[in-house]
Amino acid sequence: MAKSELHANIPVFVPHLACPNDCVFCNQRRISGTAEVMSDVYGFLSNAAAELDEKFTSAEIAFFGGSFTGIGEPEMRRYLGAAKKVIEENPKIKGIRLSTRPDYIDREILDILKEYGVTAVELGAQSFCDDVLALSRRGHSAKDIENASKLIKEYGFSLVLQLMTGLPGDTREKTMFTAKSAAELVPDAVRIYPCVVVKDTCLAEMAQRGEYEPLTVDEAVFRAAEMAEIFIEKDIKILRIGLHSSDLVRDDSVLGGGFHPALGEMVLSRLYLKEAENQISAEFCGRNVFFEVEKGCISKMNGQKRQNILYLEEKYGIKAKTVETSFLPAGVRYVNVKTFQ
Ligand code: SF4
Repeated sequence: MAKSELHANIPVFVPHLACPNDCVFCNQRRISGTAEVMSDVYGFLSNAAAELDEKFTSAEIAFFGGSFTGIGEPEMRRYLGAAKKVIEENPKIKGIRLSTRPDYIDREILDILKEYGVTAVELGAQSFCDDVLALSRRGHSAKDIENASKLIKEYGFSLVLQLMTGLPGDTREKTMFTAKSAAELVPDAVRIYPCVVVKDTCLAEMAQRGEYEPLTVDEAVFRAAEMAEIFIEKDIKILRIGLHSSDLVRDDSVLGGGFHPALGEMVLSRLYLKEAENQISAEFCGRNVFFEVEKGCISKMNGQKRQNILYLEEKYGIKAKTVETSFLPAGVRYVNVKTFQ
């Protein structure tokens, strides 16, 4: 996408009334009784299209909130039919994306999605470890994720895998296995979500009973950074790291786990720190050091409250300053470290 192009999603929350699952971290089933079914999908979408800010050069309609392909064929066609009509009337809207479960994907469903011009399918994969999936009561296996991913790609849809770390039974090693297994399927993009303990969930009850230890924010950042490195290495796009406040039903819904409003930025800061540290050697001690970063990236290098800089200054005895550059040398991803007298 050219730099001047700006893309928007027109989000539509699809209440997952039919979800037969009760994943330990999810409160959607418990709140589904109060979620309203959208009666006029076309009206909602055409209004949203008309109100789309002019700064956006393209948009997609995004059916999120549950397992879209589990809502039943008539409902699915009702939502998709309205979306298709709005796309035909608005050239700026280029396609439809939706999220679903790996075990709600088969050829019959994908034929329907194709018929209405769906462009991207996001799979809630969460983990590639069967024991973690079982303890999280996901109701599907790692093999289901693999099969669904292959089928989605075979049909030519863009594939996005949503992954979690910190679920019951998960460890750093299992998280790495999950990230590597996901990368092997060569998705077009991933979303990385450290597990968050949300009010009115089984996980909240498990944590209260001492059966589950939530991630700390530090551990969430560490694990998400390790996952991110695997995807960056393979040139797999990362669409998001961490839940956004707007993903939560209410601001006070979070009881614990890997939630921080700036989690994505904290993960990137860790990657900057790691790359900087890889370039610092003992001979830097006592010297002035420049961290050269691309335009707009000074805060990523510095970290929250300049903690990266303070850490490096103390550990290596350097005096550090972060500056912007228009050119990073080949092989340098985030930061180029230079010394000066
Ligand atoms: S995460 Fe998805 S599949 Fe699991 S309970 Fe929530 S809506 Fe249902």
